[in-house]
Amino acid sequence: AAKERGKGRLAAFEREMHERAVERLELGRDLECALGRGQLSLAYQPIVRLEDHTLFGVEALLRWEHPCSGPISPARFIPIAEATGLIVPIGEWVLRTACRQLAEWEDPALQLSVNVSVRQLADPGFVATVADVLAETGIAPQRLTLELTEGLLADDGEDTLERFRALKVLGVRLAIDDFGTGYSALSYLRAFPIDVLKIDRSFLRGVTEDAERARLVHGIIEMGRSLQLAIVTEGIEEPAQAALMHELRAELGQGYLFSRPVPPDRIAVLLEHGMPVQADAALRASA
Ligand code: C2E
Ligand code: MG
Ligand code: MG
Ligand code: MG
Repeated sequence: AAKERGKGRLAAFEREMHERAVERLELGRDLECALGRGQLSLAYQPIVRLEDHTLFGVEALLRWEHPCSGPISPARFIPIAEATGLIVPIGEWVLRTACRQLAEWEDPALQLSVNVSVRQLADPGFVATVADVLAETGIAPQRLTLELTEGLLADDGEDTLERFRALKVLGVRLAIDDFGTGYSALSYLRAFPIDVLKIDRSFLRGVTEDAERARLVHGIIEMGRSLQLAIVTEGIEEPAQAALMHELRAELGQGYLFSRPVPPDRIAVLLEHGMPVQADAALRASA
């Protein structure tokens, strides 16, 4: 009987694996026309100065409204876009759309962050695309930060280093996203021309109750500061976390406490009144 049950479980497992593979194929196929059919859009999440909670910049985050399934999270479709190579044209669209939007907001101090995947950075046309978008939109390069994940620093270091240098020649800022989740060594951080560290939100969990966690985050912040990097702490959801991160001398913060990712018109309203960013009903609503 145990053997029969085992077989049953195996069949169920195989069925599930098969369903998942089919789903990935279908999503990949749908994603191929998503751009042309206007199903992709960008939401923008505020990044604030922890000193006074005023708006420092925004991070552009991709949204996909699937015609049948509704909104699909980037955590699900970005890996598919990377595997199929679709991330290259989609990523170019993100960069161009976000830079055009930044120009439209007409606030010369506002900063913009755009996520770039490993696959995009490896594309031979990437640096030229960034240069082209900057030229087209007239955005000062120092206002654009490209967010890259840490994993990138470890594998084929030389090529990545070359790309980073070429981007630095353009004058854009480079950030390491989700810092602390990968396996990058300190030596990489020193060797690469990086401007910003974004400390992953997993470090914020329980940080206000647990002195050891707080010391760990403090250590990361101090290390980043000693390398003269700007520090952004992600995933701030509670006032006590914002206060602690400020106390531990992180300059910038991002998280639901301040605002969810929102449509561009909400950012325009924030810019208009110039007040500290505080999650009111409109900013709490997800986009
Ligand atoms: P990320 O770049 O680390 O972006 C931050 C993610 O954390 C966003 O999820 C944001 O909504 C979420 N977040 C922000 N504050 C909080 C908070 O206080 N609590 C919690 N629980 N979450 C918070 P989102 O928009 O679902 O994006 C997920 C990931 O997908 C991004 O992580 C990024 O790696 C990727 N992604 C999104 N847009 C793009 C894109 O245009 N290009 C590329 N290559 N990747 C993208
Ligand atoms: Mg990011
Ligand atoms: Mg991040
Ligand atoms: Mg993250």
